[in-house]
Amino acid sequence: MATPSPFATLRSEALGCTRCPLAETRTQVVFGTGDEHAALMFVGEGPGAEEDRTGEPFVGRAGKLLTSLIEGIGLTRADVYIANVVKCRPPGNRDPQPLEIETCRPYLEAQLDLVAPHVVVTLGNFATKLLLDTKVGITKLRGQPVPYRDGAVLIPALHPSAVLRNGGAALAQARADFVVIRRALATAG
Ligand code: URA
Repeated sequence: MATPSPFATLRSEALGCTRCPLAETRTQVVFGTGDEHAALMFVGEGPGAEEDRTGEPFVGRAGKLLTSLIEGIGLTRADVYIANVVKCRPPGNRDPQPLEIETCRPYLEAQLDLVAPHVVVTLGNFATKLLLDTKVGITKLRGQPVPYRDGAVLIPALHPSAVLRNGGAALAQARADFVVIRRALATAG
């Protein structure tokens, strides 16, 4: 029998994870989706109800907006990799707790290592604060590329859920973030 790839091994480990209390309330683990060798990787916050039901990240309303923003820069979901800070749905869509984020962090770090994207996009405050190790909020950081590990670049962007909540001006800002992403991809790697 062929040896499973490091990605398959990581995925099956995550799918059976019971390291934090979110394991008790989830329907299923939402590990991540897309091209495991993508040049562009998105990191969201955590699964919502639709994601918990289907096992795929960003498939609810926010996901549809993310998909259209991705398509707006000439890519499809299959071209990119999409993951979250926490892989299991926080009950009632509450914020993920520090213990849950830290417990889940090795899975995200391993995904970042294995995908090795040229451009990492953190969607919203949780992913941005975690990966940049900062307390500065997304509204200050969005749209500004920062050097990231191994010559990659990290671009904080508005979370699609925040865009849906805040409407017109936020949508224009999200589109501007994606222009920055497109330019970074064009010059990366
Ligand atoms: N919001 C997120 O941050 N991640 C998802 O997968 C869905 C909604």
